[in-house]
Amino acid sequence: MRIGWIGLGNMGAPMSGRLVAAGHDVHGFDLSETARAAAAEQGVTLEETVAATVADADVVFTMLPNHDIVKAVLGGEDGVLANAKQGAVVVDSSTIDIDAARELHETTTAAGLRFLDAPVSGGISGAAAGTLTFMVGGDEAVLEDVRAVIDVLAGRIFYTGGAGNGQAAKLTNNMMLGITLAATAEGAVLAERLGLDASTFWEIAKVSSGDSWALRTWYPIKDVVETAAVNRDFQGGFATALLRKDLDLAIAAGGSTSTALPFATAVRQRMDQLIELGLGGQDCSVLVKLVDGELTN
Ligand code: NAD
Repeated sequence: MRIGWIGLGNMGAPMSGRLVAAGHDVHGFDLSETARAAAAEQGVTLEETVAATVADADVVFTMLPNHDIVKAVLGGEDGVLANAKQGAVVVDSSTIDIDAARELHETTTAAGLRFLDAPVSGGISGAAAGTLTFMVGGDEAVLEDVRAVIDVLAGRIFYTGGAGNGQAAKLTNNMMLGITLAATAEGAVLAERLGLDASTFWEIAKVSSGDSWALRTWYPIKDVVETAAVNRDFQGGFATALLRKDLDLAIAAGGSTSTALPFATAVRQRMDQLIELGLGGQDCSVLVKLVDGELTN
């Protein structure tokens, strides 16, 4: 299949690379030279405009930071909607607001294309391994038409119901990720200060009631878990600013459903502190430095 891919960052580069490896003809676009270089290394054919990226594509993926950017990339003269062929499927795997996703379903359908909100979980390690969890909202028949393509990227694909429901699942999941990350960072520092060996404590928690995905994948003490961003000085991974955005969206969804979310609100405040300290671009597990008192503001 011919695939257009817009947003070749920490997630987009490895994901689009997997589609190349599976034999698809993948054309990609990103504003960042670093992202473009990473995708080119994976065999993605780089394009100079969104229009050229999506022309002739059967499926267009967007993997972008936020709703405003997804909307801008879809709209306008050079955008996806004006340049993709009729009937093409736009799969937005970015994490964005639920109502915004519903709006994109409408505008895309009105332009004669088809749309799925299909956010993912599993981080950059899941992106590279093709084991992401996809949460898909929209018309189930559209999902069936592109299931084989998504399968290359996914460990599991969940159909969550109508437009926006993929984002509803994703925002709820990421709120839980934020809270378990904070619990893991606090636990990791406490265990060290109590004199426990970090790897031994990690092994204990992993098979005990302190277990979580954050613990298993992001344990924020060096040389305990290979996939943890602490081993790469918190470069790459899942940016603090992105987790902050997701918590914001989840807390807004809490507001619209009269759901009190005090833990999510506390973690968002921690993310704000990190952003104020200039660490918004670093992996969110850099939170461990706040817990450890290495950072002050
Ligand atoms: P990222 O910042 O690494 O990548 C986003 C890319 O979009 C960047 O390379 C940026 O240059 C590009 N971009 C921005 N504006 C653009 C435009 N107008 N045209 C073309 N390219 C543009 O972010 P990421 O970590 O890859 O995350 C992407 C999305 O996936 C976000 O919505 C995030 O919340 C979500 N997500 C991230 C992770 C993770 O672990 N990193 C996991 C699941 C979901």
